Amino acid sequence: MASPDHCPCGSGLIYKACCAPLHKGEREAPDAESMMRSRYAAYAKKEIGYLIKTLDPAHDDRKMPEGELHKLLAAAARNQRYMGLTILDRAAPNAEGVAEVLFIARVFERGRDFTFVERSGFAHDGTGWRYRRGVPVAIDAIPGDPKALTLATFPKP
Ligand SMILES: [Zn+2]
Repeated sequence: MASPDHCPCGSGLIYKACCAPLHKGEREAPDAESMMRSRYAAYAKKEIGYLIKTLDPAHDDRKMPEGELHKLLAAAARNQRYMGLTILDRAAPNAEGVAEVLFIARVFERGRDFTFVERSGFAHDGTGWRYRRGVPVAIDAIPGDPKALTLATFPKP
């Protein structure tokens, strides 16, 4: 595991030079993959405001009151350990403007392994990329080598 100065998104860069400026609102992620990385890092750094800011208005979680959503995300960030991120595949925006990212997120909660593979969709709202939807699948439920998955072989949302 990298030193504590390293960004939790797994870029190999130090946090200050990687996702911190995104979390502080100094700049926007340039593409969907960077947005995905910065959201994973935001869980690890308990940047709950950033997780809400980067949630697309069309995401299902927007159906709950923001206060409730904040509590839910804060509890997740508090109870979970974010052990690493592996990007498996990405695709440029489709006709609806949704860019996709496929990744493995290593997450532990109270000593249990909740690592999952997720196919995420991101849409640009004119300001930045926002998390539109995600299809997570527990890594144990993946037949074969999860690292060999691509967007073409992972189920469509
Ligand atoms: Zn980062």
